[in-house]
Amino acid sequence: MYQDTNVTHDSRELCVECGGARLIERMREQSFAYGPPNDQVILAASMPVFTCEDCGYEYFDERGEAARHEAVCRHLGVQTPEEVRKTREGTGLTRVEFCQLTGFGSASLQRWESGMVVPNASSDRLIFLLRYPDNVERLRKRATAIAQGLLQFQSASADPVARISAGIPEVHTRRGIKRFERFADRPRIAFQAASWNLRRSQCM
Ligand SMILES: [Zn+2]
Repeated sequence: MYQDTNVTHDSRELCVECGGARLIERMREQSFAYGPPNDQVILAASMPVFTCEDCGYEYFDERGEAARHEAVCRHLGVQTPEEVRKTREGTGLTRVEFCQLTGFGSASLQRWESGMVVPNASSDRLIFLLRYPDNVERLRKRATAIAQGLLQFQSASADPVARISAGIPEVHTRRGIKRFERFADRPRIAFQAASWNLRRSQCM
């Protein structure tokens, strides 16, 4: 499927296969399989493809990788790296400030923005909500109130459960408080890291 944007690549770039200089760059719709072998879907992405006039070899560069990643994000229903970055920039916050406000790890944010990892569903939704300045403002006010001790009644030092769960992510489940203590154990965190790695490998 060729479009009329064919251009001879005029940079000093050479064919990665034969070293020839006669490279033609075309925009093309490329299909690729995504997902585990027994549950694959075929996705399509429009990307610049280089064709070598000398040896016939075809390949794409990092723009092609980005186009594929975007197609995967669309398929999964999460925001693309560029959308994540634009949302963060739209808040007017630096990466460090953004992480302080949201509770995201700076390494995670960096991976989402660079396209190395696809955000999980809950992170994606929080990022989406931060497109709206009033939501950013709500988080800011809450952080200020916590810093000033105005919300301390929710985690009074007299309350032993609150003391134990301080510093542990706040997760509300039907099983309540006992769940908090379980989150202090590392296996869950290890499991999360493993699932990130899986996502990453599926995305490439
Ligand atoms: Zn070649």
